[in-house]
Amino acid sequence: MNNIELLLYENISDEKSFHSQRDKLIVLYYLYVITHKEKYLCELNSTIVFINNNYCGGLDTSVWFGLASIAYPITSLNYVYPEFCNQLISKIYLGFNYSLHSDENKNSYKFYDLFRGVSGTLRFLAENCMEDIQNELIENVEYLCELILYKGKMQVFNVSPEIYVRNHEKMKKYPNGYFDYGLSHGLAGVLASLSLSYTQGIQSEKILDCIYKLTKVQLESLMCLPSDRCIFPGRKSEKIDTKDFEKNYYNWCYGTIGILNSIILANKVLCDVQIKKIIINMINEMLSFDFKEENNLFFCHGLAGSALILYNWIPNFSKKKSYKIKKKAEDICNFIMSNIENKAFNMYEDAHNEFSIIDGKSSVYLVLFIIQNDVADEDVFSKMVFLK
Ligand SMILES: [Zn+2]
Repeated sequence: MNNIELLLYENISDEKSFHSQRDKLIVLYYLYVITHKEKYLCELNSTIVFINNNYCGGLDTSVWFGLASIAYPITSLNYVYPEFCNQLISKIYLGFNYSLHSDENKNSYKFYDLFRGVSGTLRFLAENCMEDIQNELIENVEYLCELILYKGKMQVFNVSPEIYVRNHEKMKKYPNGYFDYGLSHGLAGVLASLSLSYTQGIQSEKILDCIYKLTKVQLESLMCLPSDRCIFPGRKSEKIDTKDFEKNYYNWCYGTIGILNSIILANKVLCDVQIKKIIINMINEMLSFDFKEENNLFFCHGLAGSALILYNWIPNFSKKKSYKIKKKAEDICNFIMSNIENKAFNMYEDAHNEFSIIDGKSSVYLVLFIIQNDVADEDVFSKMVFLK
């Protein structure tokens, strides 16, 4: 058994909560599709049975806390679970429609974001919904675009302080709220979802116009810092601490690399020559960046996330540029490996738990396992986090 395979397998939690069972399912899915070992398929089956018996009754269809999270690996194994797949897809479409047209929470970022909101579910449906409801889905996405562009203000990305100040000490530096440009909860996430869905056939003039306007706002946020480094800020308020942006440069959730990922996806739709120039300049900067400045190894706000983003960029560029991107991703993976071997694992203070595939040790092992093995279309985790 390969070292990373063993680490990944040994770091599965046996807790019965939804998030632990979801992570277990996704890890077992990768272990099975990469190694084809029967024992992983057996454990995968019993995990699916447990989740179905305990967690499939509700209508939370989000991509992290709801049904879409488990539907990604299960629909990828369609040949093993065809009937269950169809049930899940129908339920997710119902849930998406219900939340889009109910009057609750439309002003909350959680309504739109990747984890709990409609943008995560939309990316799943764009790839998996039946052809006969595609036109209806397009109409729903046009309605979503209207909500986002309401009066041209994109107010939905303004996060008010009462939502977070009570819970998060570090957010107290935004006493009057902030505009959220980030990939995990903000504008970049919605932009990535619309762009990926567009590439999957969810297309219309209105949706194209929305992608264009969101890209424009994202590009207008580009800032050059005193250090000469140019960044996309994840959060912006009237008072800006540029040191934070330097530190967050290589983060998936709120860093420049995560936002640049959304701009690359959007420009696959827009095919704009000027935007391409900005992308190439930013990538050149990314490649010269000393990633060891980053302070942890996890996926969400650490080096594993950057490595997986770079890995997914490889097919998008010329041979010469792709080679350099691949080399950078490998350098980061080697750095992570040496940290693991030296047991210098830097547990980030905000880590959800060490088993988490988003900000725990499993997130690091999972990314290394994905990059070491060519999983191509079966790489559902990269799809769930808007990298492909
Ligand atoms: Zn994060």
